[in-house]
Amino acid sequence: MLPQPIRRLVQQLTHLPGVGDKTAQRFALHLATSDPSLAQELGKALSTLREAIGPCPRCGNLAERMEADPRGWCDICRDSRRDSSLLCVVGRIQDLLSIERSGAIRGHYFVLGRLLSPLEGVGAEELPLAALERRIRDPDEPVREVLVATPPSVDGEATALLLAEQLRPLGVRVTRIASGIPHGGDLEFADPVTIGRAIQGRRGLE
Ligand SMILES: [Zn+2]
Repeated sequence: MLPQPIRRLVQQLTHLPGVGDKTAQRFALHLATSDPSLAQELGKALSTLREAIGPCPRCGNLAERMEADPRGWCDICRDSRRDSSLLCVVGRIQDLLSIERSGAIRGHYFVLGRLLSPLEGVGAEELPLAALERRIRDPDEPVREVLVATPPSVDGEATALLLAEQLRPLGVRVTRIASGIPHGGDLEFADPVTIGRAIQGRRGLE
């Protein structure tokens, strides 16, 4: 029914999170029939995306690759006005963005990329704990408090406990965001006020 180039586009679009066949078809038909500049600009942005960005070697956030900064650091790591003594550990980049939107803290971050998951067989050795320790021990920007902002789910809590245990010998204060975000809830979808409260009400992890 649909020409092959559109079918191909639909097929690729369905690989995106939250995009099913119908949505993919709607996107593809829109791109094929609206102002051609949309498809062209989108195509350009997509074709250069992976070369233009990469993981920040310091925190795991996404960083723009720039010749001016061969360190490859992200905007947050490069921002010297931030409180470098506060390191907020999150599971995913989306969670970092939610906390940034709440404006509750202006510290630095560390993105784990995944959570400890006993049920799915993700063990401590699959988390970037060595990189996190290196970051905490950075002599130029010593960290005093590690705020664990993993989600309030089974995996998020297991990860928080593991971090408290692993980081205790480093002499940093380890805190955990307070509840308020429903159990099993996602930081990404929590409103900024709730996230702000959870951060204000953080408590020590002993
Ligand atoms: Zn960074």
